[in-house]
Amino acid sequence: MATDYIVAPRAGHASIRVDAGGNAWIESYRCVDCSAVLSSRAMACRSCGSRTSMQAFRVSESGMVYSWTIVHRSYPGIAVPFVSAIVDLDGGPTLKGNLRIDNPNAVRQGVRVRLVFDDAGGAHDKDGAPYVGFHFVPEGTGA
Ligand SMILES: [Zn+2]
Repeated sequence: MATDYIVAPRAGHASIRVDAGGNAWIESYRCVDCSAVLSSRAMACRSCGSRTSMQAFRVSESGMVYSWTIVHRSYPGIAVPFVSAIVDLDGGPTLKGNLRIDNPNAVRQGVRVRLVFDDAGGAHDKDGAPYVGFHFVPEGTGA
């Protein structure tokens, strides 16, 4: 979603990284001792307890639905129904995000999905910087 921005875009999620051109990716951390994946930097590995530095890596943009719910009631202005999904990204980690799909009743465990970065619903910070968010789409469909 690289674009020419007047004000540099900001990450709308703690794991999102955005460069000055608006290119976004999700960063996670891998334990160098046991290879466990952590979605945030930690002082010690939650799996093996190692205090060796975690290695940052750019996560895969493909994964599969682990679990989901169809949300029928939300805040005013939020279109319903929508699908909130827990997705196991290939190689880790597991992320929660909305799954944009034409038929929410068609979601099944194991459905292959793709991570797509977006404009976080058009949100901006107080300086006018746009936020970058993400959602999922079924593999083989558009953003
Ligand atoms: Zn570890």
